[in-house]
Amino acid sequence: MSNTKYKYIYGPVPSWRLGSSLGIDLLSQDRKICTFDCFYCQLENFEEYTSQRKVYVPTKDVMAEINSLPDVKIDYFTFSGRGEPTLAKNLGEVISELRKIKKERIAVLTNSTLLQDKEVRKELALADYVALKLDACSRELLEKINRPAPKIKFDEIIKGIKIFRNNFSGTTALQMMFVDENEGYAEKFVELAREIAPDEVQINTPLRACGVKPLSKEKLYRIKELFSGLPMKIRCVYEAERKEVKAISKEDTVRRRGKNGA
Ligand code: SF4
Repeated sequence: MSNTKYKYIYGPVPSWRLGSSLGIDLLSQDRKICTFDCFYCQLENFEEYTSQRKVYVPTKDVMAEINSLPDVKIDYFTFSGRGEPTLAKNLGEVISELRKIKKERIAVLTNSTLLQDKEVRKELALADYVALKLDACSRELLEKINRPAPKIKFDEIIKGIKIFRNNFSGTTALQMMFVDENEGYAEKFVELAREIAPDEVQINTPLRACGVKPLSKEKLYRIKELFSGLPMKIRCVYEAERKEVKAISKEDTVRRRGKNGA
């Protein structure tokens, strides 16, 4: 099945956070659709910001593709892809449909920008696992690293994350991408993690091909050490083990994750 062309599904990929993960892209456009334009993003073809939610791919088409899957063994179905998955207005609907036919756990990787929206929180709450991006601990760093759409504000992101965290019964992971620009602020990130109290903190640095230099192992381990007094699980990308998995469609996987997808 390795040459099969899938439009909305990619992988499975070996995820350092989720084991074997089959991606579902509810945006699936040629250009990136996002509320951020992170300077380390490996996705190309960014034309303009979007913060308006809409249905990009009909639920029935995504479900038809999922129903046509060969028998692949995976740990998670993961909503991610070419942009911010919560921009898809049918995210909740697809998760509910998926629940009816599949027993695997469901994850969503979000950049946390739309969490002030009650409807987005309600839809995310249908998942088992939500990874929340947090690369900035101030407005200035948000502008520098994530380059948000005009209406996206740092304080609102933090507020949305806290409300979601306090009401979600599944697993939350706070996902932090460390680069030269925010390395010196690691202690502020520790404070934010203490306040938000996720189930886990993931300390990352850009290892996929994106033109931004990753922090060294030594630097990332030093940052991890600062989090060691917190009660939640702290994971570092350099310590991660990856499962051996074979993609059912390599071309579609590369389109969403770059050639060095990790
Ligand atoms: S949030 Fe993700 S998809 Fe959007 S710009 Fe940042 S890295 Fe790229």
